[in-house]
Amino acid sequence: MKAAVYHGKERLPVEEVAVPELEEGEVLIAIDACAVCGTDLRTYRHGDKKIAPPRILGHEFCGKVVESRAGDKARVRVGERVVMYIVLPCGECRYCQGGRQNLCVSRTTMSYHYDGAFAPLMKVPAKAVSNGQLFPVDTDIPSEHMSLAEPLGCVINAHGRLGIGLHDTVAVVGAGPIGVMHAAVARLQGAQRVWMLDVSPARLRLAESFDIDGTIPVTADGAHLDEMEKRTDGLGPSVVIVACSHAQAQADALALAGKGARVEFFGGLPKSAPTALLNTNHLHYKELMVTGSYSEKMSDFQASQALIQSGRFPADRIITHTLPLEAIDQAFPLMESGEALKVCINPGTA
Ligand SMILES: [Zn+2]
Ligand SMILES: [Zn+2]
Repeated sequence: MKAAVYHGKERLPVEEVAVPELEEGEVLIAIDACAVCGTDLRTYRHGDKKIAPPRILGHEFCGKVVESRAGDKARVRVGERVVMYIVLPCGECRYCQGGRQNLCVSRTTMSYHYDGAFAPLMKVPAKAVSNGQLFPVDTDIPSEHMSLAEPLGCVINAHGRLGIGLHDTVAVVGAGPIGVMHAAVARLQGAQRVWMLDVSPARLRLAESFDIDGTIPVTADGAHLDEMEKRTDGLGPSVVIVACSHAQAQADALALAGKGARVEFFGGLPKSAPTALLNTNHLHYKELMVTGSYSEKMSDFQASQALIQSGRFPADRIITHTLPLEAIDQAFPLMESGEALKVCINPGTA
């Protein structure tokens, strides 16, 4: 079969690989759709030390169970369409015991430590099968839309600590696919007002088609800070979510935030430059609460799947492009230009 195999920085050829053979306890999935993650783009452009090549990338997927060697241990049957919680937690450390599998001290992850879903077939490790990490999809919602369950779960993890409600005004900095998902979840949580900020006019144009109250261009002269203040009666928003990997956006977020606001740094900075220069007087005088989030708990993934299946999440408008596997290298410039939100890969058949 053909798969997109990571061999190192800017080397992701679609090449012939062996069809995976199942061992005891494993399940084989025929992948219908696998969305391209911002981390796939980052791995492609800059490499990733956590991934030992050759490795098939792709971890935001939906597919059908075509073979099982798990017997009764699998809670899914051959023929069923499924999504998967892709973190393999140890189940025993303090974080796992507390339900925070994303923080597990010895976690492994699909497409990092096991081959992923930019391929027609992917095998699921026995541990994940017996741990109940495959979830049947019980609606006719397209697999492309269901592939968003993984990134949306990460967004829901962050929202768990933000606790947005009817009294909140929310600014999302970064209008890429993750920013749009944050805005949609904030709205579903009941936020009074939701604005999106970005440096890219193309991204802001796309963002305007979603249920938000407006967009604000981010400019070098800091005019966006004044504009945000104006739109919130001089108070500033009560929640600021940074949905991009820029130190300046993190610094801006503290300046944008209103008094007593919650600020979320979603997503990390590049490992080569992980430091941001922050004016901590904003924390002091405005009594800000700053949180971060990483990956998702299994419960977030389940909530995400349920939300997409409810039809209340705008998955159809977040997937802007679908490409065949052979054209996967076209996904990256589409994402970088801001022309695409989510690009979905159709891996075809083995
Ligand atoms: Zn992802
Ligand atoms: Zn653990």
